[in-house]
Amino acid sequence: MGKMELEFRIPREQELLQELEPEYDVVIVGGGPAAYSAAIYAARFALKTVMVAEEVGGQLTLAGEVDDYLGLPGMKAADVIEKFKEHVMRYGVPLLNDRVETVGEAGKGMMRVETVGEARTLAKAIILAIGARRRRLHVPGEDEFDGKGISYCSICDAPLFKDVDAVVVIGGGDSAMEGAALLAEYAKKVYLVHRREEFRAQSINVEAARRKPNIEFVLDAVVREISGNRRVGGVLIEDLKTGERRELQVGGVFIEIGFEPDVEFTRRNGIETDEHGYIKVDEWMRTSRPGIFAAGDCTSLWLGFRQIATAVAQGAVAAYSANRYLREMWSRSTR
Ligand code: NAP
Repeated sequence: MGKMELEFRIPREQELLQELEPEYDVVIVGGGPAAYSAAIYAARFALKTVMVAEEVGGQLTLAGEVDDYLGLPGMKAADVIEKFKEHVMRYGVPLLNDRVETVGEAGKGMMRVETVGEARTLAKAIILAIGARRRRLHVPGEDEFDGKGISYCSICDAPLFKDVDAVVVIGGGDSAMEGAALLAEYAKKVYLVHRREEFRAQSINVEAARRKPNIEFVLDAVVREISGNRRVGGVLIEDLKTGERRELQVGGVFIEIGFEPDVEFTRRNGIETDEHGYIKVDEWMRTSRPGIFAAGDCTSLWLGFRQIATAVAQGAVAAYSANRYLREMWSRSTR
């Protein structure tokens, strides 16, 4: 459908709702790239749509610069989020700032959506774009020093460690590599501790970290304990080949070991997941529950390659499928 065929409302801000209307065609749960993409397509399919999100931007809020999304080279992640928001604003899809708690059956093919903030509505279809949470290391000292030198977001917190003698980054994925390279600009020394010799990260990110003279790679090693006084002071690392343990004196610990899905949500709502807890979807982003679709980092699709591009693609397909489902399930007269 061409742009000119749609009637655009062009508000200056994405309309922020205080409460939900009684009924929608589609409720999109989430505020990351997958959710925004789904919102645009749902609106283009002329579906009455609302987004419900605790946080706008999803994991993009944890990113620094985006250089891998077509057409937006070298753009600050915050500006990419603004672009997504502006685009959705053109389609007039409103947003309720809240967390969806339950998605229950309401009879006659409708679903009841309830939020933590006690908002409720009925929906004919739901798109879950609920992302994933940061994985914790589960070692002694992690809870005690959380926020006292331990961070789960290098990109967010690196500047706070300016001129610190040494910090440690744990992980071997893109987040760890990008984080270590950024931290090397602030801290005097960065240890990158990874449990294997091979990296999950893309080569371009590994090479960027390797080029930093003040990053020391500590491979085949794990952190067994985080210690300190009132703040982080060191980590106990173990060489997995020799079993040797040693203490690294560090003023900061960056745990960048990936994400895990919100299994409580999916379990509570009877949505089938894979063995890792990611929502099972088919190639049309259909979940195990009719009328519920999923997109982005919460799904089992393309696990291991989480990109803005992949999230946006899944969001678009989820909206397409939701539209098809609605057309098949509901006759025009009942809508
Ligand atoms: P990730 O790709 O899942 O990598 C997590 C890393 O942490 C892996 O190296 C893993 O080791 C390690 N790890 C996991 N659990 C651990 C534990 N308990 N103890 C020690 N190490 C542990 O996570 P991510 O780096 O946060 O990236 C998440 C997704 O976002 C990926 O798809 C990534 O490509 C994407 N991303 C992309 C960019 C970019 O393209 N610019 C930037 C950031 C993130 P093993 O390898 O041994 O399993």
